[in-house]
Amino acid sequence: MDFDLTEDQQSIRTAIRDVCADFPGEYWRGLEVTGDYPDRFVRTLTELGWLSVLIPEAYGGGGLGMTEAGLILEEIHRCGANANACHAQMYTMGALLRHGSDEQKQRYLPAIARGDLRLQAFGITEPDAGSDTTRIRTRAERHGDQYVINGQKTFISRVDQSDLMLLLARTGPSDETDRTAGISLFLVDLRTARDQVKTQRIPLMFNHHTYAVYFTDTAVPAANLIGEEGRGFRYVLDGFNAERILIASEALGDGHFFIDRASAYAGTREVFGRPLGANQGVAFPLAQAYAQVAGASLMRLHAASRFDRGLPCGEQANTAKLLASQASWAAANACLTAYGGAGFAAEFDVERKFRETKLLEIAPVSNNLVLAHLAQRVLGLPRSY
Ligand SMILES: Cc1cc2nc3c(=O)[nH]c(=O)nc-3n(C[C@H](O)[C@H](O)[C@H](O)COP(=O)(O)OP(=O)(O)OC[C@H]3O[C@@H](n4cnc5c(N)ncnc54)[C@H](O)[C@@H]3O)c2cc1C
Repeated sequence: MDFDLTEDQQSIRTAIRDVCADFPGEYWRGLEVTGDYPDRFVRTLTELGWLSVLIPEAYGGGGLGMTEAGLILEEIHRCGANANACHAQMYTMGALLRHGSDEQKQRYLPAIARGDLRLQAFGITEPDAGSDTTRIRTRAERHGDQYVINGQKTFISRVDQSDLMLLLARTGPSDETDRTAGISLFLVDLRTARDQVKTQRIPLMFNHHTYAVYFTDTAVPAANLIGEEGRGFRYVLDGFNAERILIASEALGDGHFFIDRASAYAGTREVFGRPLGANQGVAFPLAQAYAQVAGASLMRLHAASRFDRGLPCGEQANTAKLLASQASWAAANACLTAYGGAGFAAEFDVERKFRETKLLEIAPVSNNLVLAHLAQRVLGLPRSY
């Protein structure tokens, strides 16, 4: 379905498609075997400036909006690639651009835009604090002109492939009336802190680099506190809306990947003397998933437009994330069913994408928590957690 994209937005799609043509299924399958990070893919996107589109031009970035950032991630996923290895550079901009000081932005953003520094890690989740983020226990204590951090995070992606990490830590007690109080946000320079930050990779059902992270007396300059002490949770909420819009975009790309592949396959493979797609049992689930992807796309564009105009967009961003991840999962199932046994064979990339897209229902926020947000914040129902 064609949406009202500008010529520039259309050309972004074409440019990303050209880049991804150099990273076909064989590339991603090879990485699954070795477990390696897609270094060449990330370097290529960085050098071409695609990962710094959200950084304002004044800091050397592309100066584009959330709509364009979403289209980039969508197209990467539609091509069968995966932006997991590098999307955090976009996710984290919501918090850094809106709440970082001028000095912090001057110090880091031009270097990130040039590709000299990687901001790929976002440290929130802990063993006892996933959906219930305000329960985090990692502590940051102020000693003179620095904070000293102790604690453990888990499932923190790309820590070993990043120079910088946005970290959420507790600087004060929680407050019964405001559970978000006492939490602060830091920009940790991992290059200088490597000795006090230990990591352990967590093996997963697909090739992704995520780690348990241990902080032992990790010193962070006070100048790297984002905004005011104790208000960090509010700052990441801005980042969360960006993250939800971008994750919705990746899900939409996955949805298109499955529908494109399945339509081509069902249109040509003959069973009982006619193309598979002539059977409504095969065609209708694909058509249904297509309609879901198209509807979710509209909500994603709406949410991104509100974000770019500085309007509140929690409702739209959450709704887009929910609908898009459901659409991609519906498309994944319809596609695998249409492929039959071939869907399980690695050579078609369907089973790899099937495993990858399931994540989008769970992380970075589970769909149940999205529903809880909509029920409570939009419908005014009592808090369920
Ligand atoms: C591959 C991967 C990469 C990740 N990368 C990062 C990262 O870079 N940085 C980071 O900080 N985190 C990261 N995470 C963590 C991710 O954000 C969490 O897994 C996610 O927020 C869910 O938290 P949890 O796993 O602790 O689930 P839990 O909070 O334990 O919840 C388990 C299940 O119960 C459901 N549930 C919980 N409470 C309720 C309720 N009140 N009502 C209904 N259902 C409920 C949830 O929907 C979920 O499905 C990553 C996770 C994965 C798997």
